Amino acid sequence: MSTLRFNALQETLHRNPVLIEEKGRRSELFGNNVFNKQAMRQYMTKEAFQSVMDAIEFGTKIDRKIADQIAVSMKDWALSKGATHYTHWFQPLTGATAEKHDAFFETIDDGGAMERFDGSQLVQQEPDASSFPHGGIRNTFEARGYTAWDPTSPAFIYGTTLCIPTVFVAYTGEALDNKAPLLRALQAVDTAATAVCKYFDKNVSKVNATLGWEQEYFLIDTALVSARPDLMMTGRTLLGHSPAKGQQLDDHYFGSIPTRVMSFMRDLEQECMLLGVPVKTRHNEVAPNQFELAPIFEEANLAVDHNSLLMDVMEKVSQRHQFKVLFHEKPFEGINGSGKHNNWSLSTNTGVNLLSPGKTPMKNLQFLTFFVNTIKAVHDYEELIRASIASASNDHRLGANEAPPAIISVFIGSQLSAVLDELENVTKGKLSPQEKTDLKLNIVGKIPEILLDNTDRNRTSPFAFTGNKFELRAVGSWSNCAGPMTVLNTIIAKQLKEFKIEVDELVDAKNLKKDEAVFNVLREYIKASKKIRFEGDGYGEAWEKEAVKRGLSNNKTTPEALKAKISKKSISLFEEMNVMNKVEVEARHEIELEEYSKHIQIESRVLADVARNHVIPTAIQYQNTLIENVKGLKEIFDKGFEQYAKEQIDLIQKISGHIAEINSKVEKMTNERKKANKLSGQNNADAYCNKVKPFFDEIRYHCDKLELMVDDNLWPLTKYRELLFTR
Ligand code: ADP
Ligand code: MG
Repeated sequence: MSTLRFNALQETLHRNPVLIEEKGRRSELFGNNVFNKQAMRQYMTKEAFQSVMDAIEFGTKIDRKIADQIAVSMKDWALSKGATHYTHWFQPLTGATAEKHDAFFETIDDGGAMERFDGSQLVQQEPDASSFPHGGIRNTFEARGYTAWDPTSPAFIYGTTLCIPTVFVAYTGEALDNKAPLLRALQAVDTAATAVCKYFDKNVSKVNATLGWEQEYFLIDTALVSARPDLMMTGRTLLGHSPAKGQQLDDHYFGSIPTRVMSFMRDLEQECMLLGVPVKTRHNEVAPNQFELAPIFEEANLAVDHNSLLMDVMEKVSQRHQFKVLFHEKPFEGINGSGKHNNWSLSTNTGVNLLSPGKTPMKNLQFLTFFVNTIKAVHDYEELIRASIASASNDHRLGANEAPPAIISVFIGSQLSAVLDELENVTKGKLSPQEKTDLKLNIVGKIPEILLDNTDRNRTSPFAFTGNKFELRAVGSWSNCAGPMTVLNTIIAKQLKEFKIEVDELVDAKNLKKDEAVFNVLREYIKASKKIRFEGDGYGEAWEKEAVKRGLSNNKTTPEALKAKISKKSISLFEEMNVMNKVEVEARHEIELEEYSKHIQIESRVLADVARNHVIPTAIQYQNTLIENVKGLKEIFDKGFEQYAKEQIDLIQKISGHIAEINSKVEKMTNERKKANKLSGQNNADAYCNKVKPFFDEIRYHCDKLELMVDDNLWPLTKYRELLFTR
């Protein structure tokens, strides 16, 4: 066995798991390191506090003088918590988070020093961020980027740094990050949904999108990972034979959590509590060494920030516990992958969840309105939703056998399907008194009872209604939720805006009562969006065929899927809803294509290295042993040796065969890479997808065959069974 693999196994087996202590009651830790309302009230003047609250609720601008006051309060609070530095925390288009730390410390004239932080430092900064991706925006406009404070997401202290959530935009106004378009989409959905709410309740003045994500991940011992260059460099295994035992027994799911992992989780959760991330549930997932963590849902912008923060914190905490956390959607072939379900709903400032059926027929009509509009929006923009979750790593999961397919469809359950079927028959125009009563009492009025026993939740649907929210299940575990949340909220905003126009028209021109008009428009939407509804098995082959008949898209690869982002339809949607202009949309598309190509390029290089530098030399070493053996047999038995050396000779030949295949395929792949590198944009990504990537499986096939043949003692890479079952 290679020393690295041997040591890795020894190290892992001799870990001494100690369960760390709880630091105190969770509720007492919660938000201690967050400049939340409580802290603000304590440290700020009334005027400053009110100004921040108004900014959060109504998006009003904060006056410069007040900003100075806020900065001083924030600094005082941060210093009281032991902070020494501050940073504008933002989410560049690379998917990770970025920060540059500055000390509060400043020298003063008399030779002394003090801690200083004022409004200008709080509100705006210019990070030296020329290396973040910008899709040509900053070149075109020769503009620099700056970060600007987002008061709707509270500042927090991590380590000894005060982190101030910000957006990252070019001086010409174009968004260079994930947050700016998200905030605009949330603004759009607020405006559109509030206007529709007024049909049902005049007191509604704000609607928040809510998000509750569920983060899946793998935890693997750092020592085991260190003997896997592929895991270290790409976050997934590019080769490796399936273990004799995989996840067939399903004995890991909801089983007891191993002590080492429990210790990591406690540590992580306590950090989360301090940071105000309301983590609530934890459990094993389907695959060995796979786990899930989910918080209580929050306003979408905050929830997105909290998910990004969590991923950072997880990496840091996992290091303390000698684990590497894998966010990749498919780290191990043949083993369940990881996703990040996005539970989404809309909630009013009056405390009503708009996707939760109410107690009165009126509330239920409101529920149905938002319910049907959501389905219609997903129907109209299914291809854009698919595009919003596209990435090189998520491609492994979509359409594979445990995840939602690359086809977007909506599951609502049999009872709500029956309700929509009935509503399809609502009379066109004015309703008879009998029909009105029927609709209100017997159809709409019955919804809450129905939902209580709606338990048939279809796990194979990428977009499922789950009682009081929709669950977008196709989001990748590695993704930033901002992308899909921006798209989802934008299309809902657009749909609700259209709905309002249509209802108003019927009321004004056709003299219909408001309820009648609502029923009339909903009826048409139900008919028009029927093809997106699917209650069956989303993983089956039959559905793929059926989806083609229905005219639904099935874009299996990222370069294919991303095209929907720059279609005329998408650009006019984003422009109309003031979420992104054409330049921003196209820049993002360019960045995502490039990211895709780079991702495949790196995987291809790593695979070639591992195949040539690890696998082939090991195979040759073993082959030499066999050759020695055959020579020895010949010495002893002379002419009759063949009957004793048959198997060995056969193996020697097979090994040579696999080595030859690997060599020739790696060479061909390298040539395709060279050709691809001469192309740019879509062509470059297409070449990486269709010409380079197909070699991965072929090369892997031969490497995995060799793994089975070669003496286990010689094999240099930690094996699947070790990665998945050693603790
Ligand atoms: P699972 O999908 O694993 O069965 P649950 O249905 O219990 O899990 O809930 C999953 C997530 O849904 C939780 O993270 C929760 O915070 C979130 N959630 C619940 N209500 C809402 C809501 N109104 N808006 C957004 N997310 C919600
Ligand atoms: Mg879920």
